Amino acid sequence: MGQTILVTGGTGYIGGELIDQLLEAGKTVHTTVRNKAKGEPRLRARWPDAGERLKVFEADLEADTGWAEACSGCDGVAHVASPFPLTVPKHPDELVIPAREGALRALRFAHEAGVQRFVLTSSAAAIAYGHPPGKGHFTEADWTVLENPSVPPYHRSKTVAERESREWVKDNAPDMAFCSVNPVAVLGPVVNDDLSTSIALVEKLMTGEIPAIPDVGFGIVDVRDVAKAHRLALDAPHETVKNGRFAVSDKFLWMRDIAHILRDRVPAYAGKVPKRGLPSIMVTLLAPFSADLKQVKTELGRTRDVSGEHASSTLGFDYIPAAESVEATARSLVEHGIVKF
Ligand code: NAP
Repeated sequence: MGQTILVTGGTGYIGGELIDQLLEAGKTVHTTVRNKAKGEPRLRARWPDAGERLKVFEADLEADTGWAEACSGCDGVAHVASPFPLTVPKHPDELVIPAREGALRALRFAHEAGVQRFVLTSSAAAIAYGHPPGKGHFTEADWTVLENPSVPPYHRSKTVAERESREWVKDNAPDMAFCSVNPVAVLGPVVNDDLSTSIALVEKLMTGEIPAIPDVGFGIVDVRDVAKAHRLALDAPHETVKNGRFAVSDKFLWMRDIAHILRDRVPAYAGKVPKRGLPSIMVTLLAPFSADLKQVKTELGRTRDVSGEHASSTLGFDYIPAAESVEATARSLVEHGIVKF
């Protein structure tokens, strides 16, 4: 890996962990934030000793300003920033446009700056959706089926951004070592109250906001492993990563398993964690009246188990067990006063 890496979206959950690991490894890090006046003090507070080894640039996914400066002098780019809202937008373009434009913009400016290594944070959302209901196991060979209108806007945005990035590289920068890292739901320690959407799942179980457990599940991966996969992909030999696709996942867990892990590993914080299941018929009946249940309805009883094996064997790391990630999420939520007891 070169010595200077641009991590877009330094204020985010994954972006922050990646910056942490890169600084720890002695790299100089450039990062983009949407609002420098707000974002930079937050980043400086997290890494008070980084000094000149951390440079913060203001850049939005939807505008050219700031990108040339952010990419200048960089050996590698990890493009992590992308909209990841908790709620479903009215129109898919609210997510698809910034995700696609942002990825293509980051690629274009990176290429113009002579960057040879580019790691795109994609998602299992670009792998495991829109397939026939009987398909429950996935690998990097699978792509979310955009022709299926039931694919939600966020999943659509990640699929379009990854597909078009690959096309762009093929046509415009065929020598660039481009790859994607495709995480399933990311858990693990949080460092502040600016929570990623994936953390809301554990938070809502702990606060009792989810009063009964629907029959849904998720692949789980730890944020420290997601960052590690990016770091290793930035560092691996050119031919190992070129055009690569690295799904990162430790394990698929049902929501009832996550509730059980909380009760087992952090009983002091699990008083409000529900024990009852929410019958699927109730979800179906109530879905028209609740945006949350509408999202849950399509996932009832569905396994979406994306294998993380290729990433761990190719890049060379072992996953933190999902139960440890759930525990770390819960402990850090309490430690930072986000969930109060
Ligand atoms: P996050 O904490 O919400 O971070 C998202 C980052 O993207 C923030 O830094 C945000 O900046 C930035 N961003 C959003 N829209 C932007 C725009 N228009 N212009 C510039 N920056 C923008 O989410 P995360 O969990 O770290 O997710 C990071 C990446 O991982 C995303 O690409 C997401 O799709 C992917 N991912 C996440 C998960 C997961 O479970 N967490 C799973 C698979 C893939 P602001 O601080 O200014 O909002």
